[in-house]
Amino acid sequence: MADNNSVVNLEATLRTKFECPVCFKYMIPPIRLCLSGHIYCDYCFEKIRKCALCRANKSAYRCIVLEQIYAMLTFPCKYAEHGCNFVGKGDIMTTHQDYCEYSSAFCPLRFNRCQWKGMRSEMVTHCNDIHADNTFFVTEQKLKVTNFCNLMDRNYFIIFYVYDNLFRCVWDIKQDTGVMRFAVYSLCLQNSDKLFSYRISVLFEGADVISLEGPCFHMNDDNMRFLDKKYLSTNYNMIRDFCDTNGDINYTINIIKK
Ligand SMILES: [Zn+2]
Ligand SMILES: [Zn+2]
Ligand SMILES: [Zn+2]
Ligand SMILES: [Zn+2]
Repeated sequence: MADNNSVVNLEATLRTKFECPVCFKYMIPPIRLCLSGHIYCDYCFEKIRKCALCRANKSAYRCIVLEQIYAMLTFPCKYAEHGCNFVGKGDIMTTHQDYCEYSSAFCPLRFNRCQWKGMRSEMVTHCNDIHADNTFFVTEQKLKVTNFCNLMDRNYFIIFYVYDNLFRCVWDIKQDTGVMRFAVYSLCLQNSDKLFSYRISVLFEGADVISLEGPCFHMNDDNMRFLDKKYLSTNYNMIRDFCDTNGDINYTINIIKK
């Protein structure tokens, strides 16, 4: 039987087989192939015209066995040189790296014309400093839309950092159709629709008059505003009736842990 030391050595040797010959980083699936069998990370493979090692053409196949071994081996996080100490099995690492706090991220409120880019760990602090009006740390927040009585195109983005998770609330109105869409998405945690839901309640004279509830789906690509068919929808005319005497709409957003 192999002793512990030789297992560790075997793992280390196997790990070197995952270094991409172009960028020297560890390959994460999909692992791509040239027609003679040389392997590349997906990113580099898309950039080369022919195999950089043997000039063979590129193959349409993936190296499935190596991808399976990847899931069983332990790797350091690719942001280790930026300070991340996380080490984990390949399949866990793929998810970790997408949301590693040492990875770089764009402002989650960039649709409000913010150009910020920085370390993911500084994202919430940035929002709180620069977008304080749209950043909340409570599970229930009362909000107001001024001049709602005027139908026009509107887009709102609001961040909630609660339950150790980042949520982005988005809603819009289209002036030509009067269609309103509303959603709260989890920007980090996956399977969030099983764990969290949200409720939007329109207030009139202090009481809830309309409440809509939906699951907080996970949004993988946070460049999206909405996920297809994963939002609530209503019509402007239904909400307009509840404007206060100034023409404003008052509403609350609740993020609920199931
Ligand atoms: Zn590469
Ligand atoms: Zn080759
Ligand atoms: Zn990391
Ligand atoms: Zn920003």
